[in-house]
Amino acid sequence: MELEKLHRRMIEGIRRLGVKPEVVEAMEKVPRHLFVPEDRVHEAYDDHPLPIGDGQTISAPHMVAMMCDLLDIEPGNKILEVGGGSGYHAAVMAELVGKDGEIYTIERFERLAEFARENLKRAGYENVKIFVGDGSLGLPEFAPYDRINVTCAAPSIPPPLLDQLRVGGRMVIPIGRYMQELYLVEKREDGIHREIKGDVVFVPLIGKYGFRE
Ligand code: SAM
Repeated sequence: MELEKLHRRMIEGIRRLGVKPEVVEAMEKVPRHLFVPEDRVHEAYDDHPLPIGDGQTISAPHMVAMMCDLLDIEPGNKILEVGGGSGYHAAVMAELVGKDGEIYTIERFERLAEFARENLKRAGYENVKIFVGDGSLGLPEFAPYDRINVTCAAPSIPPPLLDQLRVGGRMVIPIGRYMQELYLVEKREDGIHREIKGDVVFVPLIGKYGFRE
């Protein structure tokens, strides 16, 4: 089947999840086949994670949709992503924030950061800035963020990420080593609110406030 048809079929699956229409529209616009290794293009629109090298993965489309939905992204938001990987999730968020928004993504592997840079460039996303480093420390120079999207599993919520989240902001983060749960964290005037949204499987966050290598 040609890629366009496979993309449409993937979008029908995303629509059935019941996520916000804006999330479906954003995923309709981003060509996922430009974010996977060449030998995986035929699987680009299947609903499962795919290897992208360095032992890492591009998350399954339904997981990208659910995380964007929980983040409740608004046009103009400034977002930090921890775990840039292929750049796909960042591209979907770039669609959601629009031309007035900003996306900062941090990736620990130089090669993957370069892969994300190339993918985002050829897909035409110029408002995504990619950094190499330990994302468990956040990216303090551009804080505070309206939203924080963590795409790797942490032992607990890294304190620097909480510090860099704006009051009124939201973060999604998988917590746990083998048994992981996806948390929605809200920073409100009266404190931090956490809610578990379901069981998930992510690669580990490796870093100062993550797991050891
Ligand atoms: N968002 C990505 C995408 O759209 O392709 C998927 C990311 S993958 C599930 C998780 C990523 O987190 C991996 O690329 C991994 O190298 C990265 N990672 C793990 N620990 C990290 C850390 N401390 N700082 C930054 N990135 C980290």
